[in-house]
Amino acid sequence: MHCLAVLLLLQYLIMKVVRFSAGSYVGCGILQGECVRTARRGRRCEADPHAPAYDLSDVKLLAPCRPSKVIALGINYKDHAKEFEHELPKVPLMFLKPATAVIGPGEAIVYPPTAQQVDFEGELGVVIRRLARKISVREARDYILGYTCINDVTARDLQRKDGQWTRAKGFDTFAPLGPWIETELDPASLLIETYLNGVRRQKASTAELIFPVSEIVSFVSSVMTLLPGDVIATGTPSGVGPMQPGDIVEVRIQGIGSLKNCVVQA
Ligand code: MG
Repeated sequence: MHCLAVLLLLQYLIMKVVRFSAGSYVGCGILQGECVRTARRGRRCEADPHAPAYDLSDVKLLAPCRPSKVIALGINYKDHAKEFEHELPKVPLMFLKPATAVIGPGEAIVYPPTAQQVDFEGELGVVIRRLARKISVREARDYILGYTCINDVTARDLQRKDGQWTRAKGFDTFAPLGPWIETELDPASLLIETYLNGVRRQKASTAELIFPVSEIVSFVSSVMTLLPGDVIATGTPSGVGPMQPGDIVEVRIQGIGSLKNCVVQA
């Protein structure tokens, strides 16, 4: 096959779901190359050929979904367990981040005045496609819309002080999400990296996850009903560290893209 034809085919196989604003329009779209096409109403994940198309550089990308909740896993990479001198969990260790913590690519992480140490945690985010309750590991793939980057921002000093994690993980802006949802991706072995001011601070493969994606989705659905757009943060590898106001933090995942956010003083 001609290489241009292969490229065109690849462009359509790799599907990126975005939320964006352009002028007065705010909604979902499909990113095809550098072109954002409005998604067809009522039929998710399908570009509407009759709707207006925008150049990527002319739109503002928003968090790619609006979850009712963000479920996150603690200690899901062995090297991160070692760095925190934490025993390996026998079942997934879950906590919640409120939906109000979600921000999009390019938005600012606000450093709370009550915190002394705010850390980045680059993670693979799983986005749920349809209502999932008590599903099996084998069924899990059918309930996943796709994958995105998430930064599980954490006020580390407050996490240690409180013993439980709601305050430390739940501040407004503590769940940067994006830049889009990649729907055609095998999450089994993806390079995941976090950069602080351009310097790589985390590097791992999702093959190192203690509990893989399907097991996580099944496990979470055995506890709480997952709704379309809900996000599961699958845990962070070793190398987490503090950020300061003025810093730029970037989570990069192979096959998805790059999520960049700045840090500002409250
Ligand atoms: Mg985390």
